[in-house]
Amino acid sequence: MTVASEFENSNQAYVKAFTKGDLALPPARKVAVIVCMDARIDPAASLGLQEGDAHVIRNAGGRASDALRSVIISQKLLGTREIVIVHHTDCGMLTFTDKDIRDIIKKEGEDSSNPANYAAAADTIAFLPFSNLKQSVIDDIEFLKSSPLVLDVPISGYIYDVKTGRIEKVN
Ligand SMILES: [Zn+2]
Repeated sequence: MTVASEFENSNQAYVKAFTKGDLALPPARKVAVIVCMDARIDPAASLGLQEGDAHVIRNAGGRASDALRSVIISQKLLGTREIVIVHHTDCGMLTFTDKDIRDIIKKEGEDSSNPANYAAAADTIAFLPFSNLKQSVIDDIEFLKSSPLVLDVPISGYIYDVKTGRIEKVN
């Protein structure tokens, strides 16, 4: 049984109790939240979000540059006027470098029909790991503030503690 088929079963129960079919498309609280994809974080529960409240943009590390496309759409087309960044303790992004992951990919590519292609493809991706958690939040706030494509809106950054569930403001 795949996890996807488990989802289908869970969804049947969800649909039976579903009452949120009349929500507006633009987020009611006009906020976009950029959060790491870490499986231990529940943005809705930990930040007090309901369906329809916010755009929650997730990626590895909760990196702003990776989220830029979504942030622009969120602001220009769907009216959000605040950004919140949430990185977290014990993040996987603290455990490797671009070289580390590229070396893994290249090693796997050695058995492929075109190892050079494999290596070149790996080198085009910035995986955006970081070695300083607090600095990664500061850097992402700065990245958004300095982008001409991002509106001049309040941007806050937090570190979520996976041991306590508490968020701490960085800036
Ligand atoms: Zn993470």
